[in-house]
Amino acid sequence: MIHQARKRFGQNFLSDPNIIRKIVDTIAPQPGQRMVEIGPGLAAMTDPLLARLGKMDVVEIDRDLIALLKERYSSEQLTIHEGDALKFDFSTLGPDLRIVGNLPYNISTPILFHLADFADQVRDMTFMLQKEVVMRMVADPGTSEFGRLSVMLQYRFRMGRVFDVPPGAFRPAPKVMSSIVRLVPRPTESLEAKDDALLRKIVTAAFGQRRKTLRNTLRDYIDEAGLTALGIDPGQRAERLSVANYVAITNACCAKRTA
Ligand code: SAM
Repeated sequence: MIHQARKRFGQNFLSDPNIIRKIVDTIAPQPGQRMVEIGPGLAAMTDPLLARLGKMDVVEIDRDLIALLKERYSSEQLTIHEGDALKFDFSTLGPDLRIVGNLPYNISTPILFHLADFADQVRDMTFMLQKEVVMRMVADPGTSEFGRLSVMLQYRFRMGRVFDVPPGAFRPAPKVMSSIVRLVPRPTESLEAKDDALLRKIVTAAFGQRRKTLRNTLRDYIDEAGLTALGIDPGQRAERLSVANYVAITNACCAKRTA
């Protein structure tokens, strides 16, 4: 059966065997490891991963692709979770999980935020994404690419861009350049925010109006004197602050709440 690529599911299938080999080598799967692939599609990556792992899990939303996967692989080899990865509870797959995927680009940011919630169970994650998104993930403070995605992911993971993949490696070819990115969770004891939900709110408020100064965007959380006491200029904008600065603001708010 020929599968017609569906735009609404962000389907751009990998077709370049050299790139596929390079991605699988980057993932370096070892037998016995617990691995789940998001969006296996036509199994371009699944097949070589299974050859090394023996068995793995996948989460796929497209019923036609699920039917093809069921024809091709036994249920001992491939455990297929049918449905939306954005709603999938990755904690059901157990600890030390490796998560991989050539992610559907139309939902890349929500998927990354969803996956960050499972960092405690994860050993590492290797994804293909639009290069522009990867550049935002790994951006340094003070650059225009540094934003909410950078802060929240850098807080939870060490990340690195591994290599770029041109549009010609896919069928159909996407309009944009892609990159492979690896994420490794930071040890829990190195995470210093006393309230992760508050950190998220503060970062969202700061970057919600990124042209405004912190004294305005964070006024519901901390006053000018509070910022100054942390060594932060209230006249600065969100992108100038480091991840550690956001953690310090969060903890100052927590301390004030308990005082
Ligand atoms: N891994 C294949 C490859 O590299 O050729 C396909 C990659 S394609 C860019 C994205 C895949 O994710 C497709 O198989 C698509 O059906 C699937 N997908 C899209 N949205 C999804 C969602 N919300 N949950 C799970 N899978 C999804």
